[in-house]
Amino acid sequence: MKKLKSLIVLLVVALSLTLFACSNEAEEQVSVYKISAVYDEQNHTVTAEMSLSYYNATGSVLDEVCMHLYPAFFREDARFSPVPDELLSTAYPCGKSYGGIEVSEVTLNGQKIDVVISGEDDDILVVKLGENGELYPGERVTIGVNFTLTIPQVNHRFGYNGRTVNLGNWYPVACVYEDGKFVTDTYCEYGDPFYSECANYEISLSVPSGLAVASTGETSKSEGDVCDLFELKASKVRDFAIVIGEMKMLGARVNGVDINYYYTADDNAEKTLACASDAIKTFSNLFGKYPYPTYSVVRTHFLHGGMEYPALSLISDALNDSLFTEAVIHETAHQWWYGVVGNNEVKNAWMDEGLSELSTGLFYEQNPSYGVDANKRLADALGAYIIYFDDCKANARDDSMNRSLGEYKDTFEYTYCSYVKGELMFSSLRTVIGNDDFINGLKNYYNGYKFKNAKPDDLIGCFERTSARPLKSFFDAWTEGKVKMFA
Ligand SMILES: [Zn+2]
Repeated sequence: MKKLKSLIVLLVVALSLTLFACSNEAEEQVSVYKISAVYDEQNHTVTAEMSLSYYNATGSVLDEVCMHLYPAFFREDARFSPVPDELLSTAYPCGKSYGGIEVSEVTLNGQKIDVVISGEDDDILVVKLGENGELYPGERVTIGVNFTLTIPQVNHRFGYNGRTVNLGNWYPVACVYEDGKFVTDTYCEYGDPFYSECANYEISLSVPSGLAVASTGETSKSEGDVCDLFELKASKVRDFAIVIGEMKMLGARVNGVDINYYYTADDNAEKTLACASDAIKTFSNLFGKYPYPTYSVVRTHFLHGGMEYPALSLISDALNDSLFTEAVIHETAHQWWYGVVGNNEVKNAWMDEGLSELSTGLFYEQNPSYGVDANKRLADALGAYIIYFDDCKANARDDSMNRSLGEYKDTFEYTYCSYVKGELMFSSLRTVIGNDDFINGLKNYYNGYKFKNAKPDDLIGCFERTSARPLKSFFDAWTEGKVKMFA
């Protein structure tokens, strides 16, 4: 943070940025979250102190930093429900339960400042950098946030039930800055309403002795009499999720990656671990090396099938065998599409969902021992889409894919447009440009946008370069809902 505004300062900053790039210290040019947290099992709370070394990678001079407070959507008077009406009884088997986040103190470079909560649903923490305070590109500021979480009893990404506690999107996380402002999109009851930048994390978490902790990071544990302390660490991840519970763990090592499978009860635990390992191997071969030292799959309570986080996937314990396997493959594909290569999941869900569905089909092609005919699976998707398309005509539904979460009529519409139509679009592209150019396009997309956020045109450009064809109108026809193949 600097108060000087002279051209000299800008030149010095530009020079230092160049030196940074040349000195091969790119890993320093990310924000660093350090969180010290205590989980209280009796009261279902987490008390935490966070110190964020925010790195200004926006290219703009900032006078504030905005942060999402996603747990706010689980409070009683939240404007947007985290659960669609049709899933309320699945989500709350013991009746409605509420939680939330209470920010008790915010500091700026060690000095207390006002706690300012804003956003459409009191879901954005605004950290003003002070009068005349400005953060230049390439500079850092240290933001301290003390907060307490109340965890609701809900089968969701943020909630406890049975023997596990899911902590997804649980801490204040910096909003992405683009087009001259912070992106502060609010929650949605369907989809994954998240968008963030890669950062480094160091988290120490105290839990009652005997509980297991699965997380995005590498884990080390110090045992105590009453509580165990877990040190969790991860680099270049766009989110950091944790599951606490009475869980067993099975491990394997594949391609230099520690694969961990956490579960409370699973007769097929070895099979699940093998599936996660096969998926990491298959997608590493197809798209590019998985970049993190660990990958954990956690069988836990969850109202949807699964949920992707960097180096960690939640898979619902309510799924049957074949759906469970498919969810493991789909969520593992998200490690490439969403995890390493990010995109705005609120505005362009088809990018990561369509690619993860398509990748699931590629997995089955490469692993015939799973006994799933990839062509039949695709034909089923087409059949399902025809039903949706007929429903579009009957019920005046929209079949465009380029809508934000909240602009779809319901979960049904979102699912068909993002997952099913997304997969059909990428599959059609594969037929049009050929398998080699298609796979090379995905490899280039992965390598070119690793640890960044990509836009639709970035993805389209990768396929255009490998196939030497203009493809913008191909994508536009699908995403804007102009492909009326069944009319
Ligand atoms: Zn998905």
